[in-house]
Amino acid sequence: MVITEKGDILRNTLKEVFGYNQFRGNQEKIINNIMSGRNTFVIMPTGAGKSMCYQLPAIIQEGTAVVISPLIALMKNQVDQLNAFGINAHFLNSTLSKTEINKVKKQLLNGEMKLLYVAPESLTKEENIALLKKANLSFVAVDEAHCISEWGHDFRPEYRRIKTIIEDIGNLPIIALTATATPKVRSDIQKNLKMEEADIFISSFHRKNLFYEVRPKQNSKKQLIKFVHQYKGKAGIVYCLSRKKVEEIAELLKVNGVKALPYHAGMDSSLREKHQDAFLSEDADVIVATIAFGMGIDKPDVRFVIHYDAPKSIEGYYQETGRAGRDGLDSHCLMFFSEKDINKLEKFNKDKPVTERDNAKHLLKEVSYYANSSVCRHRQLLHYFGEYLDKDYGFCDNTKKDREEFNGKNYLLTVLQTVLQTGERFNMEHIVDVICANDSQYVTSYTHNKLDVYGKHEGKDNDFWVSVVRQAMIHKLLVKDIDEITVLKLTEEGHNFLENPKTITLTKDHDYSNIKMDEEEDSSNNVGHAQAADETLFELLKGLRKKLAKQKDLPPYVIFQDPSLEEMATIYPCTEDDLSKINGVGMGKIKKFGKPFIELIKNYVEENDIVTASDVVVKSAVNKSKTKIFIIQQIDRMVDLDEISESLGIDYFNVIDEIENICFSGTKLNLDYYIEQIMDDEREEDIWSYFMEAETDSLEDAIEELGDDYSEEEIRLMRVKFMSEVAF
Ligand code: ADP
Repeated sequence: MVITEKGDILRNTLKEVFGYNQFRGNQEKIINNIMSGRNTFVIMPTGAGKSMCYQLPAIIQEGTAVVISPLIALMKNQVDQLNAFGINAHFLNSTLSKTEINKVKKQLLNGEMKLLYVAPESLTKEENIALLKKANLSFVAVDEAHCISEWGHDFRPEYRRIKTIIEDIGNLPIIALTATATPKVRSDIQKNLKMEEADIFISSFHRKNLFYEVRPKQNSKKQLIKFVHQYKGKAGIVYCLSRKKVEEIAELLKVNGVKALPYHAGMDSSLREKHQDAFLSEDADVIVATIAFGMGIDKPDVRFVIHYDAPKSIEGYYQETGRAGRDGLDSHCLMFFSEKDINKLEKFNKDKPVTERDNAKHLLKEVSYYANSSVCRHRQLLHYFGEYLDKDYGFCDNTKKDREEFNGKNYLLTVLQTVLQTGERFNMEHIVDVICANDSQYVTSYTHNKLDVYGKHEGKDNDFWVSVVRQAMIHKLLVKDIDEITVLKLTEEGHNFLENPKTITLTKDHDYSNIKMDEEEDSSNNVGHAQAADETLFELLKGLRKKLAKQKDLPPYVIFQDPSLEEMATIYPCTEDDLSKINGVGMGKIKKFGKPFIELIKNYVEENDIVTASDVVVKSAVNKSKTKIFIIQQIDRMVDLDEISESLGIDYFNVIDEIENICFSGTKLNLDYYIEQIMDDEREEDIWSYFMEAETDSLEDAIEELGDDYSEEEIRLMRVKFMSEVAF
């Protein structure tokens, strides 16, 4: 009876206030639990409806619920939404003025307020604690509870003081909520909030409609454009690590015909909001963003999420990819992975305190393991969050592709025996060291070199054994200890396996070592630069260049430079228009030399049945930056280079760098007026003849040959003159 009535109240409020007919998942049970005064722990994926779990009981119960949330921007959002529903809710954080604070205080003490959102920094202030002590409070909600744990990805030291403060203000029931928590982080949250006895409500993290894929970061700009073109007109998010990268990639997509906009914390907030709105209202299809984007975004039809750079943690990755496919329709999550990105991220952490740095490193390692592994992605991700699948789920790159499988029985036995023989007290690295006979300090000091598993590597290397250990965890034979998180222990299944070993199929990790990843700073000048060049075509193009050079009595590089040929061998330009998109190829060159090259490529494409990726022609973005345009204009007006350097406030040699960039990417420059001033005809002729005879246009070679008699400045300027006159 009573339960029915209570159920009615809950459902009526859900309908009347929020307009929803039914609870989702565990919501009703959770709400009942906190309303009965029990500590409650909610683990629910993003978008599943966590806020309802504390908003609804806050509205029904007497007094004010305190919601601790680290996200000030989101706080305002939620309060605005609640106010729009007619609920009295406010927030208390550092953005409020004195008058606003007084207003909030008054309403709280009046007992009119249903929810008070507080930032952790504000909660720790004496005056606020005193205020809360005086108020009539119903319960405390700790949102984003993973921030409590230094083992998570978003540690906030102030979160550690929450429990003491709650005790101080009146020992209220707590509801802790998070969308991301590994088993270790969960245990940390419960310990810290002293709610080990709390009722836990875990919803499955399995996002069945998301297709997960990792690709090595090779020729990534081209791949990105091709991918986004396949989803033409559909909504997607591209995450990049830096603001600069965000701007660059947004521009790249734009010039390649995608309705894309950038979003990052460095932008003016009104512009940021404008871009977010454009994305939500479908004026823009793609948003290119740093991880600043996405919190609180509830767009149901995001069809793809791309991590253009490696993410900092699997937690972050799962939250970000979780923004795809909220409507339940199939969506694609693609990560471009390069170990270089991981190293770069590690460098960013170097100024952090030791523990934080170690944890960040640990999280990054997990990203790297994930990318390199060929185990079903869903299985890996779920395992990371403490859920086991007993077989592959599929719907990912790894299960779709052929991967090398092998019977893991004996290898797994070796791993489990090593864990047991070393007393279940060591981490993965140590286990692998023992098996591979790497005599580390620990191996010798614990005399693990005397064990019979020592050196039982069967000719396999460290990486192989690391992969076996990780797969042993995914197969639930080993687990990480919850207190000593790096320590490995056998599970019951692990013990059973030792007694009754059976065949378990394992898969070999990906080997990205032979793949030439993108350079760190792949500037727009070498976009599409040919890691994936068609070698045969490249050689043919080089042959043609040589022939033409001979006919015209010119050095080959004057016709097209190597990077341009490589790019041609990558994207097969079959028209003048396509050819003009290649870096270093201007219209002048096309008219002069283009025809035979286009003919050759066309024939090659036909003979080899190549589907030309003309849709994937990567047009360079921002080839002509403001500086470049300024320099071109000044040279047109015959302004001396030292004056240009002065008015730009950049070093003279940097101006020459820019001039070279301009010239080598296909714009003719006439420097005669300046060269005449700094050198006489004879000297000019000497350098000219050198370049005419030279095999390459390499500056080092030229300096070596001419450097005793000519300055670097003279050689470089003459090289530009030479290229401009002969090559265009
Ligand atoms: P989370 O905090 O878990 O990421 P939110 O609390 O922001 O998710 O909820 C995501 C969306 O689901 C919101 O738009 C919310 O209004 C909606 N929602 C929550 N509960 C229900 C429900 N019972 N029925 C329908 N929609 C709901």
